[in-house]
Amino acid sequence: MNKPASVPEQFDVVVAGAGFSGLYMLYRLRQLGLSVKVLESAGDVGGTWYWNRYPGARCDIPTTDYTYSFDPELEKEWTWSEKYATQPEILEYLRFVADRHGLRSDIEFSATVTSARWDEPEKRWRITTDGGQEIRCRYYIMATGCLSMPKSPDIEGAGRFAGQVYFTSRWPHEGVDLTGQRVAVIGTGSSGIQSIPLIARQARRLTVFQRTPNFSIPAHNGPAPADRLERLAEDRDEYRDAARWSRGGVPIDPTDILGGTASEAVRRERFEAAWAQGELFGILNVFADQGVNPAANDIVAEMIREKIRSIVTDPGIAEALCPKDHYFGTKRPCLDTGYFETYDLPHVQLVDLRKQPIVSITEEGIETADESFGFDAIVYATGFDAMTGALVAADAAGRDGVSLKEKWAAGPSTYLGLMTTGFPNFFMLTGPGSPSVLSNMTVSIEQHVDWVAGCLENMRDEGLETIEPTALAEAGWNQHVQDCAAITLHPTANSWYMGANVPGKPRVFLPYIGGVNAYRQACDEVAAQGYLGFRLTGPGEDRCRDGVIRRMQPDVAMVLEFMAAAGMPPLETLSAADARALLAVTAEARPPGPEVGEVTDGVIPGPSGHLPYRLYRPAGPSEGLRPLVMYFHGGGWVLGNLDSDDPLCRDLCARSGAVVVSVNYRHAPEVRFPAAALDAFAAVQWADANAIELGGIPGQLAVAGWSAGANVAAVACQLARGAEGPHISGQLLVCPVVDSDMTRPSYTENGDGYILTTALMRWFWDHYADPADRGDPRAAPLHGNLEGLPEACIVTADFDPLRDEGVAYARALEAAGVPVRLVRARGHTHTSVTMVGVVISGAPVRAEIGEALGDFFPAP
Ligand code: FAD
Ligand code: NAP
Repeated sequence: MNKPASVPEQFDVVVAGAGFSGLYMLYRLRQLGLSVKVLESAGDVGGTWYWNRYPGARCDIPTTDYTYSFDPELEKEWTWSEKYATQPEILEYLRFVADRHGLRSDIEFSATVTSARWDEPEKRWRITTDGGQEIRCRYYIMATGCLSMPKSPDIEGAGRFAGQVYFTSRWPHEGVDLTGQRVAVIGTGSSGIQSIPLIARQARRLTVFQRTPNFSIPAHNGPAPADRLERLAEDRDEYRDAARWSRGGVPIDPTDILGGTASEAVRRERFEAAWAQGELFGILNVFADQGVNPAANDIVAEMIREKIRSIVTDPGIAEALCPKDHYFGTKRPCLDTGYFETYDLPHVQLVDLRKQPIVSITEEGIETADESFGFDAIVYATGFDAMTGALVAADAAGRDGVSLKEKWAAGPSTYLGLMTTGFPNFFMLTGPGSPSVLSNMTVSIEQHVDWVAGCLENMRDEGLETIEPTALAEAGWNQHVQDCAAITLHPTANSWYMGANVPGKPRVFLPYIGGVNAYRQACDEVAAQGYLGFRLTGPGEDRCRDGVIRRMQPDVAMVLEFMAAAGMPPLETLSAADARALLAVTAEARPPGPEVGEVTDGVIPGPSGHLPYRLYRPAGPSEGLRPLVMYFHGGGWVLGNLDSDDPLCRDLCARSGAVVVSVNYRHAPEVRFPAAALDAFAAVQWADANAIELGGIPGQLAVAGWSAGANVAAVACQLARGAEGPHISGQLLVCPVVDSDMTRPSYTENGDGYILTTALMRWFWDHYADPADRGDPRAAPLHGNLEGLPEACIVTADFDPLRDEGVAYARALEAAGVPVRLVRARGHTHTSVTMVGVVISGAPVRAEIGEALGDFFPAP
């Protein structure tokens, strides 16, 4: 019952929403002894499971896992009847939880929050409901759901239809009898795919309007999976903990089998097992790389299409039902019971809106470009304004009166998906930037609620009044969320994860795809570091430990974890020979790098004997000359060879369109300073003299190198500047060594833990040059005369001890009048940008490098 407006009620906390999130939040806040009011639009608890009562509505995460874990007694008292429980059973469960813990007394039903305003002097939120109630509270927690705001029908004439209109997301509580009726269903997402087979059982004629065909696998519903039940019976706590630290919130064994390299037999076996199992995270785990590698994804997608073709008798209908416009998993895959089989029924018709779009809804039915259909009922299964819809609609305005809608006009911005700058004491459960909809949501919800409860407890104990994220922390998290998405295939799809289903909604990847485990770890670290990235205030208190919790590219972090787990010995503890042997073994396991037109090996005359080289010619016509790039590999003057940098050379060649010649200079400790630099210079001179034979345009010669290779490339430019030449058009220096000074901050920050360590750098220098020689410009080009050098592209990586000397070289070159393009490899280490085919986030950096290389030369 809504109360008339009078003196505002006061609570410590107001929670909006009484679904899985709001109920558990209330339970935890009560435990802290805080006064709480929960406001809920619906007439009862349940959230999603209160509203979505359409026929066939079920969960798609096994209910052994889609369940609360905070109350062991509750787990004993409640037994799920099926692998995937129905909506009525899940709703019954949530009612049971509410009653068991007496939660209803703090919940006001049929009360929608219509506005919330932050009162800065009072340090309180003023909450208003649709019943005109005003409530004041210190903390405002939105548990309003990711999939709770139905999308309004964005179809011409939607209000005109004279028959019955139903939304799957607002299905009438008394049920609907469609017996003998002509029914239209618009939408073939999860809601459509679950309801269509059951609507077909009643309807006299069912017409399905499909805009995008969806991937769906059979749910194989039945008793709960025996393996999961066994594990739960054996050790429930261990099982729940495994879920909490899993990627998706359901314990599975992540595969390391790659789609690209697995045999046909293995591919088939893994796919068939996942198809037979009927679990979302099973079919998403056929191959380790299916979410990032188009070729691996295609294998799974094609096998699903084969299944559809084998189920649906009419080949034309089967083909129309086969998804082809998005990668598998980039839109939420569905679990169904007899969905594709339904299209074999004589009274069921599929209308492919890609071929005949809806022109208008009319009084009698639906008119497409080709046909007019008459209906008694239209069912909209058209989805939600996901993740931001309910948050924005509740009209919260923060410190400066700026509303969430205004702040998020270009897309949501949050810290950890939990809070947003400008909105003190305002929390979101499963907000944008959290794993939420990509995970088993019950696990994610419990984690959020526990974190928020822990935060409020800490504030109470420390006598603090307000908490708010800093702009730096929030920007850093948003970047991390997008970085995680960018290495996957997800951003390519027009999905609701991207906001693409709602006309006019900004195209931003909304959830956090880094995993439930990675997210939990980040949240825990933030709290453990004294709430890193938050400003906390209280009487006489204003504290803020500002910072960014995740700056490293996610795939770079994975490589580091993998290497740490592999237990490789630090190179500096090995002899040069052993270090070379170890690197040769790891190089064998790498992806080969992109195809190029031609690769040939040869030798060139060096100052003291021949030097091997490898030439990469771009694809395209074999005749015709190209710009020429002399490339020098990395490896601290000690390690590396033509094979070590082969994938990178292929990549540079493919991206720049230049002929790339990689030269193997002499190595230390066998031959020490300045041999490597002199070899590089000799190679450049030789290339200039033999440009045409190499396929190069005379006079269009650049040098390039990575690490120590960039060192000798930079030195070659300095040596070539004299009368002898040759003319060099540009120098590409990727993470160059340009100085032997190890006191710059990047050594302090990154000297340990990022593959190239301070100890390893010392080992390299000791092998290469006597201390007395290390200031010589042929060892440390930063100390040379930089005037008149070729224009430069310098790449520096955030987590590289050499970062600051690269920047110093760029600045010094600029000061000497040399044009410089400084490329920052954000979130990368010294080595990661060069890991072609392994570190996906390196690709945009290499694209920029390729462009810079091309810019050294006149346009063709
Ligand atoms: P919700 O359950 O959405 O609850 C939010 C509540 O907030 C609603 O009751 C709403 O009325 C209320 N509310 C919103 N705005 C206001 C306001 N301004 N004032 C007051 N009250 C407000 N997830 C899974 O992990 N596995 C599944 O199998 C699964 N199946 C799903 C099936 C369907 C049909 C749908 C739609 C979603 C499914 N989900 C599933 C996602 C599901 O939303 C979550 O699992 C979970 O139920 C979300 O709980 P919640 O409490 O965060 O939000
Ligand atoms: P959805 O996945 O967004 O699907 C909506 C469908 O409607 C899509 O096929 C969409 O086509 C179509 N559509 C939207 N607007 C249209 C228009 N103007 N004209 C024609 N077609 C239109 O929504 P949903 O099915 O409700 O599912 C949303 C999410 O809720 C799911 O992804 C899932 O996370 C959750 N859910 C889970 C279950 C479960 O199995 N447990 C069940 C239901 C929902 P386009 O694809 O072309 O946009």
